[in-house]
Amino acid sequence: MVLNLGESDRIRQAEELAWQLEGLYLEPRQSARAAPYLGGRREALSRLEAFDVRGYASTRNDVREERSGVSRLSPYIRHGVLGLREVAEAVRERYGDHHDSRKFWAELGWRQFWKLVHRAWGDAIYEPMEEAKVALGERPLPAELREGRTGLVCMDAAIRDLLETGYMHNHARMWVASYVVHTCKVDWREGERWFYQHLLDGDPASNALSWQWIASTFSHKPYIFNRENVRKYSGDTFCASCSASCPFDADYPELEARLFARPVPLGQAGRVAGLEQKGWQDLPLAQSGRSKAGGKTLVWLHGDSLSILDPALQAYPEADRVLFLTRNCYRNAS
Ligand SMILES: Cc1cc2nc3c(=O)[nH]c(=O)nc-3n(C[C@H](O)[C@H](O)[C@H](O)COP(=O)(O)OP(=O)(O)OC[C@H]3O[C@@H](n4cnc5c(N)ncnc54)[C@H](O)[C@@H]3O)c2cc1C
Repeated sequence: MVLNLGESDRIRQAEELAWQLEGLYLEPRQSARAAPYLGGRREALSRLEAFDVRGYASTRNDVREERSGVSRLSPYIRHGVLGLREVAEAVRERYGDHHDSRKFWAELGWRQFWKLVHRAWGDAIYEPMEEAKVALGERPLPAELREGRTGLVCMDAAIRDLLETGYMHNHARMWVASYVVHTCKVDWREGERWFYQHLLDGDPASNALSWQWIASTFSHKPYIFNRENVRKYSGDTFCASCSASCPFDADYPELEARLFARPVPLGQAGRVAGLEQKGWQDLPLAQSGRSKAGGKTLVWLHGDSLSILDPALQAYPEADRVLFLTRNCYRNAS
């Protein structure tokens, strides 16, 4: 049965869900609202069909919605409603092996790469993967950041997107994460948990490892940006209306000197040196699979593979299905 729900029905459903999730739901129940992304395979397919990859390479960094050529498919990909290969193939079928298609596939590749790192290293991704290349701070995340009240229009607008829609543009994620880690000297793990709590596409691997990439614990250098970069990719959307003293208004050598004057403290080494890489046979049972229970075939699905395209499901369409929820599904739920 397919329900065709109107906006008021969706809000009523969201309120009902908030009621059912008492204790897990973070905000007052009265503030429950329907997500701007409709769920379901039909919606995901129609968004995939509407996505035009032409111009992606040159516009993907622009944070203005009307200019940015990004797909906004991440919540569907994250929850397995769309498969990565399926998305890549749909683009190939419609646009061929085009420059923009290749850039788009490269981004899909990042997701896959983070996932493979997570599979190999498990929960070690929540600790520094390498030694930081600059001195990092250990402050907790201040309320002004958590609530988008920094006074910096670019930061507050991005944070509002996160809190109100569960989505933040990739370039804005990079700016906010860099501001959190390098300007405010907040422990990157605090930022990681905060994003994960709010992102509809919140994914353990892509999120934690991107924060580490920004921090320089999984990259050869920290990611920083300046005002010129913000203006280039947002026009005057933010800067023209911002009266705060801009911490990004400098060229890169000056910014580096300002942010990283302190040397890296001894003992800030990451985990890689002391950690043995796990063999594939030691990996947690996180993939989909099939087992026989009392002579009956069961297909079991993990939270990362909730798709009708799941290979085990496709191979045994008539089998009973069991959904496994692992610890990660509940991380930061309260
Ligand atoms: C600090 C930080 C945290 C992040 N946390 C997450 C997260 O929790 N979940 C998540 O899916 N992505 C995360 N990303 C990556 C990226 O920001 C999002 O995947 C992207 O913004 C999703 O929007 P889109 O679907 O419009 O992307 P598009 O540009 O249309 O890309 C298509 C798809 O490719 C994948 N993709 C694109 N860029 C990246 C990337 N840099 N890393 C990994 N996959 C990518 C996503 O599945 C995305 O849906 C994070 C990036 C940063 C800098």
